Amino acid sequence: MAERLYADVAVISGQPAEGAFTYAVPEGLGLRRGMAVAVPWRARFAAGVVIGVRDETEIEDPRAIIRLLEDRPLLDGPRLELARWLSEHYLAPLSACIALFLPPGSPRRAVADQARLQRIAPRAAAPPAQLRLAVPLGEAREALRDWPKSKRSKSADLLALLARGAWTMRTAARIAGGRPALARWSSPLVRRDGDARVLAVPAAEALDAAAALRLDAAGRRRAALLEEVIERGPLGEREARARSLATKSDVDRLEQAGWIERAEPAPDLAPVRAVDAPLLTPAQSAAAAEIVAAFDESAPRPFLLHGVTGSGKTEVYLAAIEEALRRGGSALVLVPEISLAPQTVRRIETRFPGQVAVQHSQMRAGEAREAWRSAAAGEARIVVGARSALFAPLPGLALIIVDEAHEWTYKQSDPAPRYDARAAAAELARLAGAVAVFGTATPPVEMHHRAAAGAMRRLVLAERVRADPAAIRRVSPVGDPPIEVVDLRAELRAGNRSPISRSLDAALSAALERGEQALLFLNRRGLGSVICRACGAAVECRRCSLAMTAHARAAWLECHECGERAAMPECCPSCGDKRLRPMRFGTEQLERDVRGRWPGIAATRWDRDAASAAGGHERILDEFAGGKSRILIGTQMIAKGLDLPLVTVSAVINADLSLRAPDYAAAERSFQLITQVAGRAGRGARGGRVIVQTYSPDHPAVVAAAARDYDGFAAAELRARARFDYPPFGRLAVLRSAHGSAEQADLAAAELAGALRRQRAFVSSPPELVGPVPARPERVRGRHRRRIILRGGDPLPLLRRIEIGRAWSVDIDPASLA
Ligand code: ADP
Ligand code: ZN
Repeated sequence: MAERLYADVAVISGQPAEGAFTYAVPEGLGLRRGMAVAVPWRARFAAGVVIGVRDETEIEDPRAIIRLLEDRPLLDGPRLELARWLSEHYLAPLSACIALFLPPGSPRRAVADQARLQRIAPRAAAPPAQLRLAVPLGEAREALRDWPKSKRSKSADLLALLARGAWTMRTAARIAGGRPALARWSSPLVRRDGDARVLAVPAAEALDAAAALRLDAAGRRRAALLEEVIERGPLGEREARARSLATKSDVDRLEQAGWIERAEPAPDLAPVRAVDAPLLTPAQSAAAAEIVAAFDESAPRPFLLHGVTGSGKTEVYLAAIEEALRRGGSALVLVPEISLAPQTVRRIETRFPGQVAVQHSQMRAGEAREAWRSAAAGEARIVVGARSALFAPLPGLALIIVDEAHEWTYKQSDPAPRYDARAAAAELARLAGAVAVFGTATPPVEMHHRAAAGAMRRLVLAERVRADPAAIRRVSPVGDPPIEVVDLRAELRAGNRSPISRSLDAALSAALERGEQALLFLNRRGLGSVICRACGAAVECRRCSLAMTAHARAAWLECHECGERAAMPECCPSCGDKRLRPMRFGTEQLERDVRGRWPGIAATRWDRDAASAAGGHERILDEFAGGKSRILIGTQMIAKGLDLPLVTVSAVINADLSLRAPDYAAAERSFQLITQVAGRAGRGARGGRVIVQTYSPDHPAVVAAAARDYDGFAAAELRARARFDYPPFGRLAVLRSAHGSAEQADLAAAELAGALRRQRAFVSSPPELVGPVPARPERVRGRHRRRIILRGGDPLPLLRRIEIGRAWSVDIDPASLA
């Protein structure tokens, strides 16, 4: 009689189950590891993934697998191993870790969907349709101009109102809902008649415009699509959609409305050509050669590509990708956030047309599944995306690139598994025998430390390059612009209360006079928190223990923790005084200050508020890169990887925001930030100037960043980390809880801390326990938060010894201790 077989199955149910469950394998099933199966689960059935097969079990008479959901494994060996590693390393349920690798969709349905996807035949080889305009160019441009971009439906209401007759400003404001919409309202559709506003166009036209204004996100996507067809058309449907983030139904709608048409590509049209690779500089070729040589190694150590901004790291990535593909392998490129990396994505797509699948969070389920399928089927051999792209089912993985490897967006914070995509990328490369390249201008000191210890190989690009216009495909090194530190205390003493120091004012004025561009970084949105002039209290969110921030000319307040919005109160909630004022500190306020100081100059704000109003990051970036605007004011998004040759001045408006952040890595993040902002200026032939404004000009991170002394900074930072047992010398973990009342929160925290303290005796070199202490902020969405920090020794052996309740989240190697 044939020996019985048993399978360990990670059950993918709605609620992630811990570990795997043992099932009997019916004879002749042809079961292998990584396959999706249907199993009996509690009183019903569930899908699961086989993580192991063995010939004995202690379990008496386990239930049997019902059937295979498909005849090929869904996860290969290295990916199953990675799932197990994630589960063990981040203390997350194995099934939740396996679910990361399944096709997009809800975990419960994912496996079944997978089975269905496999049955979908590969696409027919017919050439993809091209999109072109169905109306004259002028007409399309005209339509686009009136297309909704940032206007709200209040403006639509106003138009509809005016279509019924003239109204005074006051009455219209009352009916259409608030002055702000009216105050902003300026349009060729409306004119002023004495006190009243009247339509400047026929009522029917105004009503049409109102309907257009009411369009939502779909309208903006369609506008973006139409714009692509206007600017680049005719172009492939896939490309047009990728560029505009439009869906297939957006294309259908525009076609039905008669704006565009689908056409067979003209036969004489040359196919999209891969852009030729430039001649690499000696430093670039040396780096690329080392990476390429590692393809022949059986267990390649990861690379740390330490290249200053503008040194051409991306060209090294492209050369490595080309070689990976030439050898029949595939490549994965991780970027911190896809919507902030349009330039990088474009460069990869134009170099390898038709071979790239881009993953981004705005994708609809169908598109996400198509991207997943094309990667699994080997059609797209390059996957570009944010951290979750790491789980793309690329066969033959040869290369993993992690761009801007210092970015903390690589750490998943919620929900579990709270993995760090950088650590996971290194582990996947190890398991798959692939080459990993971590590129950055400011390596995290952990990586620097690992490189010094030989666990990573450091490649250095020390010089900026720029294309030499006189000799195409030749580059010349450019000097780094000087970094000037401005002492804000001295500004105050000199009576300058503006956020723009005298130095910055002079540099900006001179740059604007020469027709150049500038970039101002301030990591705080809005107009500032609202303070009572009488008692000094700030207006707080009713659900969070956090001051609210004024927005839109103080029309409303927003809690930056929970997103709640509220009207500006009439008087101070603490003392009743009417003198409530915003603190005048934030990007919106800075934009007003800049417009007031340089009235004729176009300025653009780029933060979360502005991006959602404009219908996307790329539009703001395009506006600025196209020269329509001269000053770009923004939050952290403007510090990232932009290549803008006309920018000659870049400034950190207030470095203290990050210097004083309550975090063990605050100094490192400040150093990275200043360096990244500095890297944005002077990328063209014109040189540049960098200004860092701070109340702490002597802070070591500021001094080192201004001197462009990475090695000096890293050495000092590592010494400080060693003193307090912080990473890379010790480990960190944070346990966080949220409860309905402060008493409950304290009780639960004391209980868990007690259990941890007792169990410390049973593990060797246990971590030190800090807390319980309130989390920061203490209250969010009405829930009271507590945290317990484990520092020093490995937290995992200790944490595995205790039962941790559902109210707690476990964050290993956290991005922040808050
Ligand atoms: P990084 O990624 O290190 O910030 P990039 O790869 O964006 O640098 O390079 C900066 C600029 O220099 C880009 O405009 C890029 O096209 C150009 N460049 C880089 N390397 C070369 C080269 N070998 N030949 C021509 N242009 C180059
Ligand atoms: Zn709140």
